[in-house]
Amino acid sequence: MGRGLVKDWMATADRLSPWPQATVVVAGLGTSGFAAADGLMDLGARVVVLDASEGPGNQEKATVLEMLDVIVRLGPGATDTLPDDVDLVVTSPGWRPSAPLLAQAALRGVPVWGEVELAWRMSLPDRQVPWLAVTGTNGKTTTVGMLESMLTAAGLRTSAVGNVGRPIVEAVLDEVDYDVLAVELSSFQLHWTNSLSLHSAAVLNLAPDHLEWYADAAGWPPGVADPMGAYAADKARIYERVQRSCVYNVADPATEEMVVQAEVVEGARAIGFTLGIPGPSMLGIVDDLLVDRAFIPQRRDSAIEVAKLSDVVPYAPHNVENALAAAALARSFGVHPTAVADGLRRLRLGDHRIQTIAEVGGVRYVDDSKATNPHAAAASLAAFDHVVWIAGGQAKGTTFDDLVTAVAPKLRAVVVLGVDRRVIADALARHAPQVPVNVLETSDHGAMQQAVEWAAARAVPGDVVLLAPGCASKDMYPDYAARGDAFAAAVATLTG
Ligand code: ADP
Repeated sequence: MGRGLVKDWMATADRLSPWPQATVVVAGLGTSGFAAADGLMDLGARVVVLDASEGPGNQEKATVLEMLDVIVRLGPGATDTLPDDVDLVVTSPGWRPSAPLLAQAALRGVPVWGEVELAWRMSLPDRQVPWLAVTGTNGKTTTVGMLESMLTAAGLRTSAVGNVGRPIVEAVLDEVDYDVLAVELSSFQLHWTNSLSLHSAAVLNLAPDHLEWYADAAGWPPGVADPMGAYAADKARIYERVQRSCVYNVADPATEEMVVQAEVVEGARAIGFTLGIPGPSMLGIVDDLLVDRAFIPQRRDSAIEVAKLSDVVPYAPHNVENALAAAALARSFGVHPTAVADGLRRLRLGDHRIQTIAEVGGVRYVDDSKATNPHAAAASLAAFDHVVWIAGGQAKGTTFDDLVTAVAPKLRAVVVLGVDRRVIADALARHAPQVPVNVLETSDHGAMQQAVEWAAARAVPGDVVLLAPGCASKDMYPDYAARGDAFAAAVATLTG
């Protein structure tokens, strides 16, 4: 079998392209891989799914897909070689560009898309639903949840999709005719897109994260390349070809710069959000109100209320930023101000995001296990005055010097645990030598219990004991939720 020429229509492929002529490899049988394979079968393509893991979850998905005539190959070696005559690879977002299948695709000129790009193409030319999309280092899921709630409060048919969990392909294939989608996009997902043209898009912030992946993506060893530049460039892709509004964070100039550099559809506007008083074409805060000075005709000299600060629950400065960004996207789509406030009030945010677990002896215990990088931990710490901080896990190539310098005055004491505990302990020794630090050398299941007990013994009434690890969790736990649960279980033992 030869390595036939890649179909030339693939570059501009949409739902109506001659898919039955195409062979597509789906790389990785995760949630999005499964949805992609399903969607591609719907289009009539020949689909081959490859995944190195043959665990029970994958076996189950394989059985379902095989009933639909998808070819599935699982197990060690299944992802070593890209089959011949492949026209397209649809990759799982987590895969590194150096993974053999993707590297071979690049060498052979076979296009590689993610499930996001596939969903976009599948909605063209005749099933287009506007996408309001959010990316950023932190706050994506919260913001998309707020946005979905605002859109629903406005009586629109919508669904929160993308990195939040539900594959976008699924929504595109859904029988429901959505009015609009609230889309969370990670930088990995954006990496594998090339033609999105969103109604409106927001970048919430930019801070170091996932640098190991990006060092690899750039093709150089870690530390040599410009992984931060590559990470930022992927985030910036969300603004390309935007039709209405590019929403940026006034306090984070990197996000505004991305808007300046983007090639957008003529007439698209730059809309800022700020915790200060907004200028024209911004949303911001006046007294205790969230106000819109962007989507009203009289924006030169006035603004209108879209919500109260007390509508943002749990209250924290970073959640007010998220609410402003969500409001900007909703208002860009024409949502009425009352629906913005209603949406915020009706929302119950996900667990493990600055969630108060208990108050014991005047000390509040807060689970922000979802703070998985230093920037998130900084936002979390900023919400409180005196903190006993529990941190550590996998640092993913980031550093803690700036964070520790900024928060040192509010630290009562710190417990560090997990594989990269030394990264944080060393930063504390350099920039906050006066703060008592306990470095836990064990990483078994008792470690969180020890951390909480030690923290409880140092906290005084009025303090917050805050789990904001600033790190990923997979060294010790299946995921951030399990880490948060371990914290809550340990806190529960304090009250007997
Ligand atoms: P993401 O989906 O981007 O991971 P989440 O909404 O799940 O973001 O929030 C993750 C964590 O990031 C939160 O628990 C909090 O610590 C922090 N965070 C949330 N919003 C912001 C923000 N706007 N700026 C900085 N940190 C934030």
